[in-house]
Amino acid sequence: ASGYALLRDPHHNKGLAFNEKERDAYYLRGLLPPTVISQDLQVKKLMHSIRKYQVPLQKYMAMMDLQELNERLFYKLLINNVEELLPVVYTPTVGEACQKYGSIFRRPQGLFISLKEKGKIREVLRNWPQRNIQVIVVTDGERILGLGDLGCQGMGIPIGKLSLYTALGGVRPSACLPVTIDVGTNNEKLLNDEFYIGLRQRRATGQEYAELMHEFMTAVKQTYGEKVLIQFEDFANHNAFDLLAKYSTTHLVFNDDIQGTASVVLAGLVAALKVVGGTLADHRFLFLGAGEAGTGIAELIALEISKQTNMPLKEARKKISLVDSKGLIVKSRMESLQHFKKPWAHDHEPIKNLVDAVKGIKPTVLIGTSGVGKTFTKEVVEAMAALNEKPVIFSLSNPTSQSECTAEEAYTWSQGRAIFASGSPFDPVEYNGRVFVPGQANNAYIFPGLGLGLIMSGAIRVHDDMLLAASEALAAQVTQENFDKGLIYPPFRNIRKISAHIAANVAAKAYELGLATRQPQPQNLVKYAENCMYNPAYQSYR
Ligand code: NAP
Ligand code: MN
Repeated sequence: ASGYALLRDPHHNKGLAFNEKERDAYYLRGLLPPTVISQDLQVKKLMHSIRKYQVPLQKYMAMMDLQELNERLFYKLLINNVEELLPVVYTPTVGEACQKYGSIFRRPQGLFISLKEKGKIREVLRNWPQRNIQVIVVTDGERILGLGDLGCQGMGIPIGKLSLYTALGGVRPSACLPVTIDVGTNNEKLLNDEFYIGLRQRRATGQEYAELMHEFMTAVKQTYGEKVLIQFEDFANHNAFDLLAKYSTTHLVFNDDIQGTASVVLAGLVAALKVVGGTLADHRFLFLGAGEAGTGIAELIALEISKQTNMPLKEARKKISLVDSKGLIVKSRMESLQHFKKPWAHDHEPIKNLVDAVKGIKPTVLIGTSGVGKTFTKEVVEAMAALNEKPVIFSLSNPTSQSECTAEEAYTWSQGRAIFASGSPFDPVEYNGRVFVPGQANNAYIFPGLGLGLIMSGAIRVHDDMLLAASEALAAQVTQENFDKGLIYPPFRNIRKISAHIAANVAAKAYELGLATRQPQPQNLVKYAENCMYNPAYQSYR
């Protein structure tokens, strides 16, 4: 073993934290300056230098460099400064990183599986250095955040999500595998960019696409077994719904854009009801955007209503209306609707635009999942505020530029009455001498804990009831003190504890449903979850 190699191995490197004994034993003498410092001091020093960068993308690059230099320090930094660094390693900055992936790309991270690897995917998986994989996040790059088709450059997303699985949910980094499936891109700019790193062709579709995905799904199960969690991420909706339906009966699969979003938004709504009053069934919901997020959230709300009231799911769905790019989804459009929209085609006059839909439907809750910014105009918010004493308004589209309205707009246009949450973070807003802290309906509240719950119970399938269990656990973490500030989500500071509670609730549901294979069931699931979590403190070598 050479000390030189040790300093270049991100899994074992501790930098200046190697103590005197380790420096002797591992041939490190002279390769480091004489001072020995603690991990905590390293964290302090790094935060100091990261805060000096004005440009978020520079912070992102500094974090990526750290991840490749010293993995434990990277996670320690992220865990200790989660509120500050989450927007750096995840949305919104990760979106910019994906857009500029070509120019910031230095060393490949994650596993790239393109059409060139067709027929060889099992071999490709064997090239990955780790064997015991527990979570895979896979994208095909077609709908990255609200930014559209970024092709192979979408890799930033699985990498970012998995670093959150570790930091927030405590899944070991070595058990995480980021994958990008490259079937081409329809992004003209990328196709014409001489520095583009992906396949330079238009996207494969139909059978060719399905075959590559199927080979991947099969190879993953053969290589890692039945209990590996596969999270589909940022697929375009025409593939996302089909992939989820196709593989949910044979694999442990989860689509964060559909199911994770649904779970985190439902949790926020349940919490909001404590401020607004009434049960879910007492409310009327209107969505702008009827894609993965919109219909996913709508379906989970309907499911929860039908569970709470014993109302048939079909009835519960009638409390929810959705508007897509062509207007309100109504019966008369049935023929031409994509299949995931059909359950939402109610008996109603056609309505073209959102303001008229608000006036016609009279919702108590307005949720934006359109991916189009500035669509909750002053007129829309004022219409909501005219109808409701406390209008619930969620602008979920990411990144910040795509948000349906800003926090400031929501509070100002509703005279401080809105209960507001967003997908991307907004700073607190002062209005009429009061400070409002907008909640962030960040999927990162749910998926790390959900994943941990699935892994620790050895679950073999994801069930909708587990999503409800995750929502319930998250909503239960919001304290009176949080509500007093206008928050409907708990602060991220406590995310490891929150994740442990979510994991425990999800695992309990897995046992209840007979989908858990880890026997016997641990006595105290919260404790068990906490004990399972990866701790980034350095280990001493001897
Ligand atoms: P998607 O599947 O592509 O769906 C987008 C939907 O918006 C489609 O139904 C589309 O209509 C509709 N739409 C587009 N332009 C519109 C317009 N001008 N007016 C009305 N509707 C319009 O995308 P998605 O996965 O649902 O994601 C949508 C957005 O939600 C993204 O920005 C994403 O970042 C965000 N999101 C946020 C969270 C979160 O906050 N936690 C989680 C997930 C997603 P057509 O069907 O007619 O094309
Ligand atoms: Mn996503």
